[in-house]
Amino acid sequence: MNAPLETTNLALSQAEQAKRNDLAQRKPYVAAKLARIAEMEERGEISPIIRLEKSYLCNFKCTHCSAEYYMDRHLKNVIKVVDTRSKMEYDDIRNLSRQADELGLARFVITGGEPLVMKDFDQVIEALDPDKHYIITDSNGWFLDLERAKHLKAIGVEKVQISLDSFVEKDHDNFRNKPGSYKRVLRAVDACMEAGLNLILSTVLVKGRARTEEFRQMCEYVTARGIGLYVSYAKPTGSCTEHPEFVIEKEDADILRQLEKEYNVFSHMTPSYGSHKGCITVKGIITVTSTMEVTPCPYIDFSIGNLRETSLKEVLARGMRNPWLGPHRPDCLIGEDPKFIKIHTEKTAGAKLLPLPWGQGFSDNDSLYD
Ligand code: SF4
Repeated sequence: MNAPLETTNLALSQAEQAKRNDLAQRKPYVAAKLARIAEMEERGEISPIIRLEKSYLCNFKCTHCSAEYYMDRHLKNVIKVVDTRSKMEYDDIRNLSRQADELGLARFVITGGEPLVMKDFDQVIEALDPDKHYIITDSNGWFLDLERAKHLKAIGVEKVQISLDSFVEKDHDNFRNKPGSYKRVLRAVDACMEAGLNLILSTVLVKGRARTEEFRQMCEYVTARGIGLYVSYAKPTGSCTEHPEFVIEKEDADILRQLEKEYNVFSHMTPSYGSHKGCITVKGIITVTSTMEVTPCPYIDFSIGNLRETSLKEVLARGMRNPWLGPHRPDCLIGEDPKFIKIHTEKTAGAKLLPLPWGQGFSDNDSLYD
């Protein structure tokens, strides 16, 4: 997550080096594991970031949320179903932390929902073991004042990723359906910096936004403050299924690639971001859902296995054997591959509970050919 950008200036490189030195002093085991990731990848081994979705509770109701279909409020009010699947417990998290460590994996992201509304956030961090893993949390910033930021740092969180969807206050608040949320994000940025947390902002790129003055101003803001802006593209899943007009076109991606050369802006498709180029399903990222299903990308609602039944090692190997997921691909599977998008849309259309288990979405019989 911390790979330097091509556009990184000397000051930022020195800042990055200082952060790495600080981590090596405080958490030598974690720093050594992070340093070995590049070697692992050179040997052809994978080292995905693990996104942990223990809870989908959220204080917002965002227009583009990829987790909305997993939330209790959606299952109860829209699908009218009770989810009786057994849910992630602390022992599952400890077990996952141990297995990940044995495989040399080093990075966890707590996500959701909004992680900071979880009453047991601190217990989740403890179960993951911040002396063994580099821990990042997502946040919408609402509850992230200076006191909370200092507390996160004290319990072992290293980095916070805060979402900001427009640099125009009313547009962000409308998109997030939460008046006041823009101001809280700016407060959270100051709080994280003062508390000594690593910080990036994240934003969703919808069609046409890349060429707006608003987007350029956001790029200028993050660059001036010495923080990164992680850009994810709107995908045709989750709440965005109802907003096909959000899905970007090639022109947007081309403009973003230009902006990456001028500003501290990147996406997970940025060549200099991490050593994987192209789609990072399984190779660079996995998500563990609240029912211990593993999905190969936050926007793909097909599981590659359940960690209560299959080891993490085997689930990852199974994902890498899958012809959609394992081989290198320069494009986005769920955002750009019409054949896969059709399969995904058709199979998830009538599903009440997501993700579809292994065998119902992905399976060992998958083929790229009809
Ligand atoms: S399918 Fe698209 S969003 Fe998912 S990992 Fe690949 S490039 Fe990223």
